[in-house]
Amino acid sequence: MAKIPMTTPLVEMDGDEMTRIIWKMIKDILITPYVDLKTEYYDLGLENRNATNDQVTVDSAEATKKYGVAVKCATITPNAARMTEYDLKEMWKSPNGTIRAILDGTVFRSPIIVKGITPYIPTWKKPITIARHAYGDVYKNTEMVVKGGSKAELLVTKPDGTTETSLIHDFKGDGVIQGMHNLDSSISSFARACFNYALDLKQDIWFATKDTISKKYDHTFKDIFQEIFDNEYKDKFEEAGIEYFYTLIDDAVARVIRSEGGYIWACKNYDGDVMSDMIATAFGSLAMMTSVLVSPEGIYEYEAAHGTVQRHYYKHLKGEETSTNSVATLFAWTGALRKRGELDSIPELCDFADKLEKATITTIEDGVMTGDLYLLSTLENKKKVNTEEFLVAVNERLKAIL
Ligand code: NAD
Repeated sequence: MAKIPMTTPLVEMDGDEMTRIIWKMIKDILITPYVDLKTEYYDLGLENRNATNDQVTVDSAEATKKYGVAVKCATITPNAARMTEYDLKEMWKSPNGTIRAILDGTVFRSPIIVKGITPYIPTWKKPITIARHAYGDVYKNTEMVVKGGSKAELLVTKPDGTTETSLIHDFKGDGVIQGMHNLDSSISSFARACFNYALDLKQDIWFATKDTISKKYDHTFKDIFQEIFDNEYKDKFEEAGIEYFYTLIDDAVARVIRSEGGYIWACKNYDGDVMSDMIATAFGSLAMMTSVLVSPEGIYEYEAAHGTVQRHYYKHLKGEETSTNSVATLFAWTGALRKRGELDSIPELCDFADKLEKATITTIEDGVMTGDLYLLSTLENKKKVNTEEFLVAVNERLKAIL
């Protein structure tokens, strides 16, 4: 069988530890035998980031801007322990943070649903995708601990030099204060990324804030979303048969729990942080969460939502058998290949991505799975396999449907 051709390269960002091992296995077993794979390779493994003074991360993000689609392996974000382990020159920043800052994107996370892994919320039948605004609010705050007898005010110096002040609190006793901000430009990018992604997935999009309490801050988010929707997306949404739905965050939480899923839930930064962990846990497994960064210009970077699975890597180094779940990393590859196929009009590539996903899900639903899912699955005929055996089992099913 002739291999499926590609015209534009994918930006391939390699990573660290167990996910780096999985990365190679996925390519060798499931992709290169079928696709004439074209990638522009960037090694974001910590050793190479250190050797290049992290320039490789910046270069990979710039290449993503140029080509439009990237696939990224999980990477180590260094901490004190990693400084010694890898003999680092500097405590390099999180690659995801660097890439996100360059692409100015929004991260969308969705669970992969399979029979046998039942969500903790029994009504959930379809995935719920969380879109988290990744700029500002409490993550860029200024805080102070204040003594009783202090008076705290908000002071703004305007471009013309005049000032505006507003009382925060007259402290009788000791307390705390916090200042935070956001930008119209960032909120607008977030809104556009969400609306574009909803059109891409042909799914409704929900957005929620606490605008009844926060009449200026949260209300600005609500207003910007509504204005952009009315001016730029209303007609496209009607055509696609999907909806934009705004409600209060407390109402949204109640509705999410009662829903059957199948929509995108746009969240402010902090809400997204909290809710994405809730959604991941409630759907069953972090190893089954995919993640894609979408920029307002329509640039896509696909990855798994989990980290480098460090513990499994140390077992692997000792020559012990591992049973690491490769599904989210595999779906990062299929997501990127499908997007490349769409952009370059190569339907065979999209079809291959669909079939590889189907083969993966069928494998798990046939009862063949890695240790993490084995513990969760309610299937009766389940069997635990090692890291490589799982991919080989997927390949058997892929061959059958190709
Ligand atoms: P982790 O996601 O690697 O692991 C968290 C827990 O989930 C562990 O118990 C692990 O065994 C389990 N787990 C996660 N993915 C799994 C899989 N595919 N199969 C089986 N079990 C799985 O997160 P961590 O342990 O907090 O971090 C490890 C490293 O990953 C750190 O250096 C961190 O900086 C990095 N990290 C990277 C990213 C990223 O690149 N997107 C995200 C998170 C963490």
